[in-house]
Amino acid sequence: MPKILVLPGDGIGTEVTDVSLKVLKAIEEKYNTEFEVETALFGGCSIDEYGVPVTKEVLKKAKDSDAVLLGAVGGPKWDKLDYDIRPERGLLALRKELDTFANLRPAVVYPALKDASTLKGEIVEGVDIMVVRELTGGIYFGTPRGITKLPNGEEKGVNTLVYTTGEIERIARTAFEIARKRRKKLTSVDKANILEVMELWRKTVTRIGRDEFPDIELEHLYIDNAAMQLIRRPKTFDVILADNMFGDILSDEAAQLTGSLGMLPSASIGKSGAIYEPVHGSAPDIAGKDIANPIASVLTTAMMLRYSFNMDRAAEDIEGAVRKVLDKGYRTADIYQPGTKRVGCKEMGELIIEEVIKSP
Ligand code: NAD
Repeated sequence: MPKILVLPGDGIGTEVTDVSLKVLKAIEEKYNTEFEVETALFGGCSIDEYGVPVTKEVLKKAKDSDAVLLGAVGGPKWDKLDYDIRPERGLLALRKELDTFANLRPAVVYPALKDASTLKGEIVEGVDIMVVRELTGGIYFGTPRGITKLPNGEEKGVNTLVYTTGEIERIARTAFEIARKRRKKLTSVDKANILEVMELWRKTVTRIGRDEFPDIELEHLYIDNAAMQLIRRPKTFDVILADNMFGDILSDEAAQLTGSLGMLPSASIGKSGAIYEPVHGSAPDIAGKDIANPIASVLTTAMMLRYSFNMDRAAEDIEGAVRKVLDKGYRTADIYQPGTKRVGCKEMGELIIEEVIKSP
C-alpha cells in the first residue's frame, strides 16, 4: 500500500491539511484504493514537544514513505529561538534527507480569478505553466563561496555557479517527463551566451531532448528574455526548466501571474521520495479562524496523486472540482470579490469534495 507521511505543521498548516486529508479520503472511496497515512509533528509543534523542529524518527519515516504531504511551519512563538532550532530548519533537514533536487511550481490562472492578477485578464486567462527548478546545485551551493578581506582593506564576495553533466541530466529528464504528461512543450532557460556552465546546460538539455524525448518540443531562452516573455505571452509556456537561481526568480514571477498565495501548490521531488507543500506559510494572522484558503493544499494533494502515484485521473478530478467551485462563485476571504459567495476553510473543502464525488 502506498505510504504517505502527513506533516500538518503549525498555524493554518493544520487547517488546510485537514481539508486535504478529507479530499484524499474521497479519492480513496471513489477509486476504491487505499493509502497508508501517518501523521507526525513537524516545525513549531515538534519544538514544543521534543525541542527540535524535526526528530530523527520523523526524518526516517519521511524516507520510508512514498510521499510527504506538508502543511506549513513557523509562527511568532518560535521566532526568537536560535536559528538552528527554528521551525524552518525542519524544512531544510527534510529536503536534505530526501535529496529533493527538483522543485515543481505550477502557476494556473483560473478563469473565475483572471481579474485577481496584476496583469490584464486577456493576457493571463488560460495560463497553465509548470516551473521546474533545480534545487540542490548551482550558485546557491557552489564552492568556493564567502567574503574575504583583501590586503588593501576592501572585502571580496565570491559565489560559484557550478553544474555537472549528471546534475543537468537528471533535472532535464524530470522536466521532459513532466512535459510529456502535459502539453509536450519545454522551455529551457539559461544564460549560455555569457556563462560556460550555461553552455553546458544548453548542450546537455538539447542532447537529452534529442536522444530520449523526441516527442517534446524544446525551446531555449536566455533568462533576461524569459523573464520578459513570461509577462508578455504567458499562455505560450507549458513547462519551464531552469537552474536554481533563475528558477527561484521565474517561479515567483509565474506565481504572481495568478494573483493569490492561497492558490499555489508545489512539490519537491527527490531520489527517494517527494515532498508536497503549499507555497504559503503558516499565516499566524488568520490561524484558528477557519478563514484560510485550503485550495493550495488541495492542489498540492492533486500533484502528489499525479507525480508520486501516477493517478492522473484523480488529480484531474480534484483540479476540475476546484475550477467548478470557483466558477460557482465560492471564495475564501483572500480571493473574495463583491458579488461572490464568501465561505470558510472547512466549507470550501466540503464544496470541493462534493464536486470530486460528482465528477464522472
Ligand atoms: P504567509 O505565507 O504565512 O502569509 C503571508 C500573507 O498571506 C498573510 O497575510 C496570510 O494571512 C496570507 N495567506 C497565506 N496563506 C494563505 C491562505 N492559504 N489563505 C488565506 N490567506 C493566506 O507568510 P508570512 O506571514 O511571511 O510567514 C508566516 C510564518 O510562516 C513565518 O513563521 C514564516 O517563517 C513561515 N513560512 C513557512 C513556510 C513553509 O512552511 N513552507 C513558507 C513561508 C513562510
